[in-house]
Amino acid sequence: MSRQLIAGNWKMNGSLAANDTLVRAVAAGLAGARCDVAVCVPSPYLAQVQGLLSGNSLALGAQDVSLHEQGAYTGEVSAAMLKEFGVRYAIVGHSERRQYHGETDAAVADKAKAALAHGITPIVCVGETLADREAGRTADVVKRQMAAVIHTNGHCISEIVVAYEPVWAIGTGRTATPEQAQEVHALLRTQLHAATQHVERIRILYGGSMNAANAAALLAQPDIDGGLIGGASLKPADFLQIVAAAR
Ligand code: PEP
Repeated sequence: MSRQLIAGNWKMNGSLAANDTLVRAVAAGLAGARCDVAVCVPSPYLAQVQGLLSGNSLALGAQDVSLHEQGAYTGEVSAAMLKEFGVRYAIVGHSERRQYHGETDAAVADKAKAALAHGITPIVCVGETLADREAGRTADVVKRQMAAVIHTNGHCISEIVVAYEPVWAIGTGRTATPEQAQEVHALLRTQLHAATQHVERIRILYGGSMNAANAAALLAQPDIDGGLIGGASLKPADFLQIVAAAR
């Protein structure tokens, strides 16, 4: 398995001044990091953060990408545009986009394809709601979400990153136990294995209230290959402690 990946998702947070402080603090603490590290920033700040990242090992990510190439899609940002700003990763299918913007499994799969077509690695988010979990539907839901991405992306599937993010754990302070997370990661790995001979290239991240205190136990699980970090990615000391817990 390749190096773990710790990716921060700033969500709709930041300002020119705050980004400057945050990125400098994170970059200054990365010497000796054993894992890959990225920050996924709001689109208006891509150019600013691209400039701040030059000369260090932090990678730049976006939080979404259009499934369209170009044209009359007001408000959308294409993969080609992201690429011009040095974007390496794009989160697709985050539960907040599925929930508040009506993104379907098919749209998420098309977004992953659009990113890959421009050499951007999609971080494809899947995860069940609390109602799904309590009804025993966790496996069905994450497998359905993953199947759409596999179907649309064919042999390119080995180039994606997956993030298992139980919706009930995002921003709630309630984390999946390492055992709960490992169980879902293992089933996703099995599903991906059936779709590609290169499953070892696919990193499956855990996301959902990962923090400095719980990161080590989660990241020690055999099928957890990193983390997608929301709230804690805005606090440099916490984010760097998660980075330090990764391998
Ligand atoms: C996320 O937004 O992807 C996330 C995991 O958020 P948090 O870490 O705040 O739960």
